Amino acid sequence: MTCLDARKRIYDYLNHKLSDEDLKEFIDHVNGCNECMEELRITHMVYSGVAELDSDKDSDMDIDGALKRHIADSKFYLMRKFVMKIMVMVVDTIAFWAAVVIFIMQLRIWIL
Ligand SMILES: [Zn+2]
Repeated sequence: MTCLDARKRIYDYLNHKLSDEDLKEFIDHVNGCNECMEELRITHMVYSGVAELDSDKDSDMDIDGALKRHIADSKFYLMRKFVMKIMVMVVDTIAFWAAVVIFIMQLRIWIL
């Protein structure tokens, strides 16, 4: 993902509108690119500043902390997706070999 791509996705990211694929590339990019991270930080600050004015919450704002949580949540979400994918693969593999073993045992019954 290029810086331009990443910047086009900042709003979508903050609105939780990125697809899993885009989300992963976006997170990878901002983690490795200081300029885009800064852009994200500023956009997030403006964005949550506006959101804060709408709500009647105490304006004891921890915006950087909120962004860190937002990014940490995204990473956790992606990791969960990844683990799920691995688990599905493992279960598929086990199911496949179980079927093979059952088939071989069945063959032995037929042959012996
Ligand atoms: Zn960048």
